[in-house]
Amino acid sequence: MKKIGLIGGMSWESSHVYYKIVNEKVRERLGGHHSCPCVMESVDFAEIAELQHNDEWKKLDALMVDAAQNLERANAEVIVLCTNTMHLCSEEIIKNINIPFIHIVTAIGNKIKAGGIDNVLLLGTKFTMESDFYKEILYNEFGIKTVIPNKEDRGEVHRIIYDELVQGQIKDESRAIYKEIIEKSGAKGVILGCTEIPLLIKEGDVSIPIYDTTRIHAESAVEFALGL
Ligand code: GLU
Repeated sequence: MKKIGLIGGMSWESSHVYYKIVNEKVRERLGGHHSCPCVMESVDFAEIAELQHNDEWKKLDALMVDAAQNLERANAEVIVLCTNTMHLCSEEIIKNINIPFIHIVTAIGNKIKAGGIDNVLLLGTKFTMESDFYKEILYNEFGIKTVIPNKEDRGEVHRIIYDELVQGQIKDESRAIYKEIIEKSGAKGVILGCTEIPLLIKEGDVSIPIYDTTRIHAESAVEFALGL
């Protein structure tokens, strides 16, 4: 199978979940002692979060391109960027590498479409909810409409990610806030569009289907790497 290059550390609370899932998926597919050939470039999230909040996206592009090229030099054969938000840098990464890139939104779109759902709530960082990369790909490539929470709720979703989830804090009161935002949306499904949200919200916590971007992205990378 192809060797997977993971760009991690954003945050490491979800990167280690990616590492676990790619290995579990390979074991499930190949059995025996098989595990996933992979290499991870893990960044310092403090630097990333500061640049994000200062709107320094050119610098973030350069850091992500650098990470992807390091993985290519380490013989990775496919790149997986283990964060939704940083897919804002995906065009720049794709332009500067010679190996395939598994786009998180394409992986999610395929999954939602397979489930026959055409209207979803998107939860994630403000950068993810308020930019167009999710909405455009889901609508243009899959015909799926995306809604986002109101401004106040977006603020809460974003705050909980940066102040709690990326620091490994999982709180019942924050789960209750997310549940309320999801239930009142009227959407047919919800994209957990930040790779730490699945640490807080699990299938069965809400009445609509959830799309766990960490799991879907990691599993689709393995499928690609195995040529499935
Ligand atoms: N892991 C998060 C995401 O999937 C947020 C951290 C980041 O800004 O990369 O968007």
